[in-house]
Amino acid sequence: MRYNGVTMSNPTVSSDTLSFCTSCKMDLKHVIVSMKGDRVAKVECRTCKKIHAYRAPKGITEAPAPGTPAKPTRARAVKVTVEETWGKVAAQKRAQPGKPYHAQTPFLTGDKVMHPKFGEGFVEELVHPNKVKVLFKDDVRVLIHGGMPQ
Ligand SMILES: [Zn+2]
Repeated sequence: MRYNGVTMSNPTVSSDTLSFCTSCKMDLKHVIVSMKGDRVAKVECRTCKKIHAYRAPKGITEAPAPGTPAKPTRARAVKVTVEETWGKVAAQKRAQPGKPYHAQTPFLTGDKVMHPKFGEGFVEELVHPNKVKVLFKDDVRVLIHGGMPQ
């Protein structure tokens, strides 16, 4: 909505001003009906033609549609499962050779781990001092490894 042509300074009777309309419940163009000194006293709404006391614009220019909630009651939850994340990483690192998992083998972030029980995994994080967080297809597991690189 634009208010081109609305006189905002030096208001005078019969000129336009922006006011909050108590009937329309939004900021609208009003015609100044009467003044009190240099202040607008009464205005006539150009939309509903109601004459009421001047009210400063409230910044409301659009009435909410009745019966329609402003926001959807339930936001569509986009849940990324461990398996989906694993699938993406697995696709990215398809060409990367896997390191067979052994508790004494040191691993680094991004390493592909070949675990005898959990299968293919990817090191997400090194956990001090000798553990690694590994993303497996079904879960993220913290495993013991050879330790932080010196
Ligand atoms: Zn009105």
